[in-house]
Amino acid sequence: MAALLELRHITKRYDAPGEQQVSVLQDIDLTVEEGEFVAILGPSGSGKSTLLRIIAGLVRASSGEVRYRGQPIKDTNPGVSMVFQSFALFPWLTVLENVELGLRYKPLSEEEKRQRALDVIDMIGLDGFEGAYPRELSGGMRQRVGLGRALVMEPDILLMDEPFSALDVLTAENLRRDLLELWLERKIPTKSIIMVTHGIEEAVYMADRAVVLSRDPATVIADIHIGLPHWRERKEEAFTRLVDRIYSILTHSREAHQKTLITASGAQRRYVVLPPVQAGALTGFLELLDDLEIKSDLYKLADEIMFDLDELLPIVEAAQLLGFATVSQGDISLTEVGKRFAAANVLERKEIFRAQLHERLPIFERIRWVLESKRNRRMPREFFLEVIRKNVGTEEAESQLDTIIDWARYSELFAYDESTKVLYLEDDDEAAHA
Ligand code: ADP
Ligand code: MG
Repeated sequence: MAALLELRHITKRYDAPGEQQVSVLQDIDLTVEEGEFVAILGPSGSGKSTLLRIIAGLVRASSGEVRYRGQPIKDTNPGVSMVFQSFALFPWLTVLENVELGLRYKPLSEEEKRQRALDVIDMIGLDGFEGAYPRELSGGMRQRVGLGRALVMEPDILLMDEPFSALDVLTAENLRRDLLELWLERKIPTKSIIMVTHGIEEAVYMADRAVVLSRDPATVIADIHIGLPHWRERKEEAFTRLVDRIYSILTHSREAHQKTLITASGAQRRYVVLPPVQAGALTGFLELLDDLEIKSDLYKLADEIMFDLDELLPIVEAAQLLGFATVSQGDISLTEVGKRFAAANVLERKEIFRAQLHERLPIFERIRWVLESKRNRRMPREFFLEVIRKNVGTEEAESQLDTIIDWARYSELFAYDESTKVLYLEDDDEAAHA
């Protein structure tokens, strides 16, 4: 019998603006059987979302084949539905209408659609909120609606793209449990779940398999069986051993990537995906590293400061990207620049940060160049959003730009006016950067 889902030699190239094509996925083979919950892990920008979209048939692979129950997928995949990180709800529709939307192409009567939507709303714990609009809901409830809209279609395969990463810790944990309960107790007819995540603990907590991707381009570098019985305890030894193992595979691939970044630096003009980390969190982390011993084991460090490793990794990634820290065999240490930064006063820090942005992340220079070229030194956010969309796709663009603006504001590279949504250079800026 054919497997539920098969990916054969999937390769994906994007046209990079002004360059040749960039290879994102390379020769990905993956088979998912009925009953499996598969987590896909990999660094930011490695191609996890692209892979999910290819499975869903929303994006076409450059070459290779997706098969659903043995049938090659030519258009959208009829067996899947997707939950997005950004919830992707329609603000002008109620909870009920948003959920019903999942059924718009199903050959059901209006009445049947309504009943199925109401049943799902009940199941996901939103009973009583049928008539509410998304803006009236908390983030956790909005994501429940996102989940409801996917579940109402009764897909064979549920695809989830970092479904919990926009939620606070407690809300995320609640939703993880509720979903896991629906899945384990077979309250939903879903045959398989594929979840993209950057959370190692999340993967080990929920999934049966952890598939780890490398980057530039992404290939499958590990496919790890997680054979622990549910419900799993994060503190148990078998659990932490698995987390450790996946973690070391991921950091290994990150080290390798760092090397290619360094050898390519200068010539590196391509868009680098930023992890969604605020400059303030990063500076705090660098100070902490400076206060600790020279080298710290990341896993222990996370434990000591009572952070989830999952929360810490994006910060570590940002520190590496900016050249403030290096990770080697699970130990993180500050670079010379990182040490200088940690020891500097506020003004010096801004300067160092600016220099690192300049050297490593071309997008900041490009934005600045545009602003400098404008007589009024202002440009709407929407303009840059369009540019970033071309590099990271629509769904990631908003949050990428938020991170860019946050880092730029911190280092006073350029400013941003929330109310008019305009990026601009300050009046006295010319002197400061001359
Ligand atoms: P992940 O989900 O692992 O963070 P993505 O799949 O979003 O990664 O992106 C992988 C790579 O593909 C990134 O380098 C990104 O810039 C690029 N990319 C994603 N979508 C597009 C697009 N629509 N156009 C051009 N490049 C894209
Ligand atoms: Mg993604």
